[in-house]
Amino acid sequence: MIQTGTELEFGMNPASCNRSQLNKSRKTNGFQPPLRSALTVGERLASHETFMALALSESKKALPGCLPNPPVGCVLVRDGLAVSTGYTRAPGEYHAEADALEKYSGPLSELTAYVTLEPCSFHGRTPSCADALIANGIKQVVVALVDPDPRNNGQGLEKLRQAGVEVVQGIGVGEVSEFLEQYLGNS
Ligand SMILES: [Zn+2]
Repeated sequence: MIQTGTELEFGMNPASCNRSQLNKSRKTNGFQPPLRSALTVGERLASHETFMALALSESKKALPGCLPNPPVGCVLVRDGLAVSTGYTRAPGEYHAEADALEKYSGPLSELTAYVTLEPCSFHGRTPSCADALIANGIKQVVVALVDPDPRNNGQGLEKLRQAGVEVVQGIGVGEVSEFLEQYLGNS
């Protein structure tokens, strides 16, 4: 009896062990900066990567409530400090950018928004996040992935650029797409 119980335990544990180990190793893995020639100032690239990694970890909190919308994370940075974070809420509620803006009450000048996915340019279930970032005077927007949704697909970034917002794209694209890609194209 005791042996059977022990066997059962040993038989059942590895699956859960493996899963938690997988999660652990994913969490502790260093963020891999992609090699880019566009940015040449090392320190600045490092900080872009760091804040995008934070946006990525924030984005994982969006699951499963955000579905079928993609789980996106956003970090607002001012003077080199993360001042607010947000992630995609349930459909019809805040997207990551709006969530981070809603939680932030400090000065809006000199803010950089790190977003794992291109901000939406269109008014779907919620108002356009590109418009919200512009309306709040965000100075710079750093994204990992361009949104392949045909309603967006670069138009969100273009809208930001047209409004004078500095746009940096492709930061942390490898790590972000590894997590995010599977959720794209369903919303
Ligand atoms: Zn949006």
